[in-house]
Order: sequence, then C-alpha cells, then structure tokens
Amino acid sequence: MTDVPDALGGMVARAGAAVPCFEFPALAESGLRHGVLTRLGGVSPAPYAALNVSFAVGDERARVMENRARAAHALGGELGRLRAARQVHGAAWRVVRCGDTPPAEAEAPPADILLCGEPGTLLLLKFADCTPLILWDAAQRWVALAHAGWRGTALNVAATAVAALVQVAGSRPEGLWAAIGPAIGRCCYEVAPAVVRAVSATGVDAERVSALGPSGRPHLDLAEANRLQLLAAGVLPGRISAAGVCTACRTDLFYSHRALGVPAGRFGVVAGVPA
Ligand SMILES: [Zn+2]
Repeated sequence: MTDVPDALGGMVARAGAAVPCFEFPALAESGLRHGVLTRLGGVSPAPYAALNVSFAVGDERARVMENRARAAHALGGELGRLRAARQVHGAAWRVVRCGDTPPAEAEAPPADILLCGEPGTLLLLKFADCTPLILWDAAQRWVALAHAGWRGTALNVAATAVAALVQVAGSRPEGLWAAIGPAIGRCCYEVAPAVVRAVSATGVDAERVSALGPSGRPHLDLAEANRLQLLAAGVLPGRISAAGVCTACRTDLFYSHRALGVPAGRFGVVAGVPA
C-alpha cells in the first residue's frame, strides 16, 4: 500500500477524507470545496486500479459509479449532486445546473470547461497527464473546472475559462483564485516541435515552457504554459497555486497516459460551491 503524504508539492491532504484527497490551501481557506483525488482508495482492479472515475477507458460501469461516489463523499458531498463532462480536448464551456445537467451515471455533454454557481453541486473532470485547472471567485461564489492537455493549452482553455467566469458570473480576473493540478511534467513530456509551436501561438514564450530533452526533441511544461496563460488573462501571480507534481513520475499516486499506456484509469478533480 502506497503511503499518502500529508503534503504533496503545493497541495495538502484533506483531513478526514475517506479516500486520499489533496487540496490547495489558498482555495480551501477562501471557501472553495475542492479535491484532487488519487488512484488510491477505489474498487477497480488492474489496469484501472483503483479509483478510476472514467467510463471511457473500458472499466466496468458499476465500479466507476462506486469510485465516483467515493470521490463525492471525500468532499462531504454525494453522488447525486456530482456532474461531469465528456472531455473532448476542446475549449468549449458549459454552465452546470444540477436540475438540467444529466447525472453522473448518464452520458455527459461534451465540454472541457465546467462552470457552476449552485451551492452543493460538485463538478468532476478526469485526468491522466492533462492539466487540471480550478478557478474560484470567492466574492461571486462561482467555480470553474477545466481540462487542458496540449490541445486545450493550444486553444487557451485557461483564458477561455477566465472569460467565461467574467461573462457568466461577473467575475473580475484579478479577484479569482486559481490552482493548477498534477499534470505530466517537463521531465517526462517529450513532444513534437509542432506542439510547442501550437502552444506558443497563444502568446506563451516557447523558451519559458520548453527545453530540448536528451533525445534532442523538446519537452513541454504544460503547467507553466497554463500559469502564463492565466497571468495573461489577468489572474494575479500571488493567487495562482500549483501542485508541481508530475503524473508520469508519480504513477504510485496518479494515472498517467504517457507512463501507463492504454488501458489505464483517470483520477478525478472535484470542485463546487459549498452548500
Ligand atoms: Zn516526470
């Protein structure tokens, strides 16, 4: 059994959670209910072991539902108030209202950015290397949860999520709290040069987010690219937390598409306005 540390990079273990779950102190202190689940504490066997929250990777539905229920319970919530999305590596956003968004066991609508201002509702997105982004407006009490792999980063999901909160919730970018969850790190993320060009086309300086690796091909820092996009969108540097954890280096705790291949599970990131 893997020991779960009390602190991991910029995250701390959520006290009293039934399954291992990390949170960002600045977001928790400003009132956001949120958690980064790990692969531990679930019911799925290998190759999904154990807390896989995705229906799309070949795992059995009943196990995924149990895992999602455990993820909701870890945040003091319930499965019936959990809402997910079918992630398509795009930059479309969707406002979630519990009454008119399908429940977690149904086919979820496509989106890579979910927004919610409804107390008690929990947003769930699924990850295995792509960057989790959480944005929290503690004044307006709205949250956005986003999924940004290289394609999403090239589409500037980070800025799109900020703009969506401005439009829907009347947020001011400088008033937002932001967190960047565990994602594949520059250490492990070798990419084609065209991927770096696509990301830098959003205005991110390629030299700040990539470096040549031992094979002579570039390695990309997705988390840093997203941090720079958040800054460009007006989020203040002191309000951005980062996990600083590489999913491919920490397959003891997280799933990694690059390191584990197919099939593998997806870990959950959950956020919602407290009831
Ligand atoms: Zn790594």
